[in-house]
Formats: sequence, C-alpha cells, structure tokens
Amino acid sequence: MKIGVPKEIKEQENRVSVTPSAAYQLIKRGHEVLVETQAGAGSGFPDADYEAVGATLIHDHAAVFEQAGMIVKVKEPLPTEYSLLRRGQLLFTYLHLAANRTLTEALLDSGVTALAYETIEVNHRLPLLEPMSEIAGRMSVLVGGYFLAKHAGGSGTLLGGVPGVLPGRVVVLGGGVAGINAARMATGLGADVTILEVDVERMRFLDITIHTAHTLYSNESHLMELLPNVDLLIGAVLVPGARAPKLISREMLRRMRPGSMLVDIAVDQGGCAETTRPTTHHDPVYIEEGVTHYCVANMPGAYARTATQALINVTHRYIELLADHGLQEACQKQRALIGGINVMNGQLHNEAVAKAHQMNF
Ligand code: NAD
Repeated sequence: MKIGVPKEIKEQENRVSVTPSAAYQLIKRGHEVLVETQAGAGSGFPDADYEAVGATLIHDHAAVFEQAGMIVKVKEPLPTEYSLLRRGQLLFTYLHLAANRTLTEALLDSGVTALAYETIEVNHRLPLLEPMSEIAGRMSVLVGGYFLAKHAGGSGTLLGGVPGVLPGRVVVLGGGVAGINAARMATGLGADVTILEVDVERMRFLDITIHTAHTLYSNESHLMELLPNVDLLIGAVLVPGARAPKLISREMLRRMRPGSMLVDIAVDQGGCAETTRPTTHHDPVYIEEGVTHYCVANMPGAYARTATQALINVTHRYIELLADHGLQEACQKQRALIGGINVMNGQLHNEAVAKAHQMNF
C-alpha cells in the first residue's frame, strides 16, 4: 500500500506521524512510504533520514494525499485539507470529532474512511492516548518546579529540598496515567508526594509501585487539609466521557501559600479548578489568588521529538495491520480497530460522535 505522511499544518504542531525507523519497517514489508519534505523536521528527523530508509520524498502537500491509499497523520485535517480526502482512502489520526462538527461533516462528504487514534480501546484502556498523558504527567513536575523559582514568580521552594531542609510538597489529583507519571517524576526529585484518588484498587497499585508516595482518598475535606502546605498541586483527574470534576474552588485556592503552583493537566477536559483557563506554550502561566496556574492544553507539543517516538510506538502495529491487510481483514485480525472507525463511506460509525452532533448513526 502507498502510505502518505503529510507535514502537519496545524500551528505549533511539530510531531510527525511516522518516524524514519517505522518507515523502514513498513518499506521492508513491501509498502511504499510517501513523506512530504520537512514533515519530520520539527521532531528532529531530517528528510535525509527518510530517504536513507527508502521512503519517497514528495514536495507538494496535496500530492501526498493524491497518491496515497492511506494517510497517516497526527492531528485532525484542517479545512484546507478537506478537499484532499476521497472515497476509498483511509485516514488514520487523532480526530476528536465530538468537538468538531465542521470536520465531521467534511469527512462524511469526502467519503473517506476515517479511523481515530483516540477511540481505539483495548481492555477498557485507550492505548493511543496514553503516551500523551505520560508525557504531560512527567512534564507537569518539570514546569511546576521551574515556576516555583523566585525569578519565575514562585515561592522560591526547591522541590527536592537539600540536606537539612525539608523537600517541597506535591499533591497529585488523580492517579491514572498522567498522575502516576507526575508522581514518579516528583518522587524522583525527592519531593514529598501525595496522590489523591477515588479508585481504591488503583490506590493499592500506586502504593505498591511508587512506595515513596502517599495515597489518600480524594474528597474535599482531605484536600482542604493539605492545601495550606502544598507547593505544587497537579490536576490529573479524568471521568471518562465527562468534563473534569471541579475539585478546587476559588475559595479553596486561597488556602494555598502565595507563590505556590497549580499545573492543571486536565485543562483539556475543562480543568479541575474553578480558576482554570487554557493557556499556550508561548504564554503558559497566570496568577489567581496568589497561585501560579499553568494550564497548557497541548503539553506534549513542547517535547515533539519524544512525543513523536512515543506515538509511533503505539500506532505502528495498527498502521502495519491496515497496510498489510486493508481495513476489513485488519479489523478481523484486531477487533480494537473497529472502535477506531469514526466515519466510513459517508456514514458515521461512532455513537458518541453521533450523539454529540445529533446525527444518524
Ligand atoms: P486516567 O483515566 O488514566 O486517570 C484519571 C484518574 O482520575 C483515574 O485514576 C480516576 O480514578 C481519577 N479520578 C476521577 N475522579 C477523581 C476525583 N474526584 N479525585 C481524584 N481522582 C479522580 O486519565 P489520564 O490519561 O491520566 O488523563 C488525565 C487528564 O489529563 C485528562 O483530562 C486528559 O485529557 C488530560 N491530558 C492533558 C494533556 C495536556 O496536554 N494538557 C495531555 C494528556 C492528557
């Protein structure tokens, strides 16, 4: 199959869908990989690396779409790309259609078969989303620690402390994928870490795996008790299919010391604090009630190279299946792919998307 790898055109998107090493594997299996020039540059993969493994470089964005039977992307197609999609073609990428009616209609009109990374579910998990939560979780401690510095507007607390001085206190709300990664980084720095969770089984797991962190059942009074002594509060909660629960009111925030830090990873689901509003990498923080807020909605974009490598690790097997066998047989071999199908031949195939837009399913 001819697999197209266009350069991402969304602002500040530096990831690429296929790395040179993944291209090499696909080419070895007899596929042709068509890579737009400079597609990998933002992730540190120059054109020469793709050429070296036998990929075909294509200078024109539209030509990649024209020639490929399957388009593999990172982000959803943008309006200038809608007309490039066609019936009989496969599109495999993050789509998030429930939040985008225009795109949903464009995909239906184009006739393309669109599979979304985020709706592929294996054992009640979303494996193609997990790496991004891992990155955001780990990153939350890096940015939190940085903005605690005095010159950055913080309280001047070093998370790890030093001999003779107690370490900083980190509270992680939600011990899922992002939360456990935040806790791992924070304990690694030597901080005093408490994870608040509602899932008792998960707390047992956290207790065994990160034995230097404490776990505490998540409720308002426990959080109120902790807040006056928290240096870095990390929001990492998720209730599947719903907006993030608002666990921190403005009133509660006032209990924190001036110069403390809130990193709300859950901002992309509305955030878990009343005071959360989305920010960007260019202007990442603002202060409310004396607490610095970091609420960047696309945190992994900051570490595009790592994010690209982590993404292909989880998408590669599905790309290979689709390319080797075509959609129908690939779905028989790996049933999880069926959940990925959002749009096929002008029809919606995802119930949640249909519900969100009140469309036929
Ligand atoms: P996850 O499902 O793995 O974990 C969420 C955890 O929150 C679960 O363990 C759940 O039991 C727990 N939880 C639910 N309600 C709670 C409550 N009231 N108190 C404490 N814990 C509670 O989800 P995840 O993959 O870790 O994602 C967490 C959030 O991070 C999501 O909103 C996700 O969209 C977001 N995210 C943001 C970025 C970004 O760039 N900002 C990147 C990746 C993920």
